[in-house]
Amino acid sequence: MSNCIFCKIAAGEIPANKLYEDDEMIAFHDIHPKAPVHFLLIPKLHVDSLAHCDASHQAMLGKLLLLAPKLAAEQGLGDGFKTAINTGAGGGQEVFHLHLHVLGNK
Ligand code: 5GP
Ligand code: ZN
Repeated sequence: MSNCIFCKIAAGEIPANKLYEDDEMIAFHDIHPKAPVHFLLIPKLHVDSLAHCDASHQAMLGKLLLLAPKLAAEQGLGDGFKTAINTGAGGGQEVFHLHLHVLGNK
């Protein structure tokens, strides 16, 4: 999606403070952190939200969730962390590219 800010981050077109990247996923620190550690984990593939996922996204969703505790531990959150996926305007979603919030060290 050409007008999607997270697609632009995934493509390296706009900068982000990245903590992880592979061929399918990228994680970067939130620009307005709501906790001492607050990063976002996204698929490089554009999907508007969790409500737009179907069975074709199953492996991607599994990988996303399994990556979260590994990256959290690397960020010093080995004793625990919070996750959130805001879905839709009514769920507080502001950027319509699926992303998992990981927060900790409050
Ligand atoms: P949402 O409410 O959609 O779940 O959360 C979007 C999150 O993306 C917010 O916490 C916001 O601070 C973060 N964000 C929005 N634009 C950018 C950006 O350009 N760079 C980074 N690193 N974070 C962003
Ligand atoms: Zn996107």
